Amino acid sequence: MLKGRVFEIREFTLQDGPGPRTTVFLQGCPLRCTWCHNPEGQEFGAGREMTDEEVAAEVLKNADFLVMSKGGVTLSGGEPLAQAGFAAAIIDRIRAKEPRLTHAIETSGFASAEDYRTVVSRLDFVYQDVKFPDLDGYRRWTGVDATPIFENIKWLKKSGVPFAARVPCIPGVNDSRETKSAIVQLVDGASNLRGIEFLPYNRLAGAKYAKLGRVYSPGFDESLVPDCSSMAALGDAEVSRLKAREKSLADR
Ligand code: SF4
Repeated sequence: MLKGRVFEIREFTLQDGPGPRTTVFLQGCPLRCTWCHNPEGQEFGAGREMTDEEVAAEVLKNADFLVMSKGGVTLSGGEPLAQAGFAAAIIDRIRAKEPRLTHAIETSGFASAEDYRTVVSRLDFVYQDVKFPDLDGYRRWTGVDATPIFENIKWLKKSGVPFAARVPCIPGVNDSRETKSAIVQLVDGASNLRGIEFLPYNRLAGAKYAKLGRVYSPGFDESLVPDCSSMAALGDAEVSRLKAREKSLADR
């Protein structure tokens, strides 16, 4: 039995994978994205200590409903791969009791190759964040050397594990046509790519920082509306290909 730290277990989520899901938010993240809307999940050592067995029991409370509605469990955070052993143990424990639940993750991809592969190879679906197409963007806006992220994305594209790229759209930071197009090119060409989602950043993030006694100072002009239109980033040929992929995801 393994122990880890969790800051929330949310039931009946609808945006975190196929069908309704239980999303487990693991505590701690090595990144410091200036727009982070889960600052309560960043600090290692905070949250609640739980065993993998306790997390599995929470998820399995709704197992009948989740199975009936073709849903499952999604690991999120924080950065769930920062507790890779714990994440793998949760998946294994749930699967041993109820193999019909699907398993997904939302990850920045910032992890060692070993941790990334250990967890991702157990999953049915991956939401892989792609915040920037280059190291400079990551360094400036998230505070990390993103070399492992790009290495892990390379591996993911060949892994056969179905994935969607999730791009948080930050105004004036990564929402230019050039940046979005470069992000698309980074993940394109993988047969297991099921879609690219451009998501507007959460404009209410600031309120959470005040509650934590922190100052929200994201470093960009929050009055601007981010350009999240994925199509604006793409040429016509790419648009039709992406639409076909999005349709095949919807048909799954
Ligand atoms: S990777 Fe996610 S949890 Fe971590 S700082 Fe960035 S937005 Fe927040």
